[in-house]
Formats: sequence, structure tokens, C-alpha cells
Amino acid sequence: MVTIRNDSRYPTREIKKLVRQTLGYQDITSGISVVVCHHVKKTGLGQERTWMGGYYDVRRRTIVAKIVVPGLEPYRYVPYTRKRGTCPSFDLADWREQLVALVAHEAKHHVQRPGPYVEADADLAAYRAVTYYREDTR
Ligand SMILES: [Zn+2]
Repeated sequence: MVTIRNDSRYPTREIKKLVRQTLGYQDITSGISVVVCHHVKKTGLGQERTWMGGYYDVRRRTIVAKIVVPGLEPYRYVPYTRKRGTCPSFDLADWREQLVALVAHEAKHHVQRPGPYVEADADLAAYRAVTYYREDTR
């Protein structure tokens, strides 16, 4: 079973569909949980700062994907390792592509269990997933 919890401000239906689709690119159909949420910090001026990021909790077999809150520009995907011949840095068009990239990266770490956890391969998985997603939604 794949358990998906949406603690973000985006619609649960769409979150679930995107997560399942992304896991599907790596043939993951069970044995994992995914939590989608925001990382928000209030600044001293009462504004919100938010950024994307994720991690994979090996012990709990859980991916946590933090995407930016609605109304804020998505980030570029910047690979963990910036060596020549590895994953390029690429633009993420919206929160959906952010989610796809983050889940694909962390799902690769799930597949890499029990290690070694190769960041370059996880970044490539993110890049591929976003490419597939664009092809699938065109
Ligand atoms: Zn990683």
C-alpha cells in the first residue's frame, strides 16, 4: 500500500494523483508513505518565507516533500551534486513539477535502500520524472 497524506494547501485529489504517477515512474506501488506539506517561516515583518525541500526517512519508509505555498514562484531544481556529466539544473514550472521532482528524488533513495545513497542518481530520477510528467500532460 502507498499511504499519501496531504498537509499542504493544495487539493488532496491532485496531490495523490501526482504522487502515485511519480512513484509509478520507478515502479513503486507499495511499501511507502508520502507526506506533502509546506515549510513556512514567519519573518519579523509578519511575512511568510517558504522553500522547497524533502527527505526520505528510511526507518519509517516515508518521503516528506515540502513544496512552496500557493502564490509563490517555484524554484529551480538545483542538483545536490554539480559535477559535469550529472544532472543539469532545471526550471520547475509550478508546484506540481516541484512535487514530482521532490518525490522522484526521495523515491530513488527508497529504491537505493540499504545504500549507498547516490545523490547524482536521485537527481537524475527527478529530472527524468519531470520530463515524463511533461510528456504525459502535454
Ligand atoms: Zn537526496
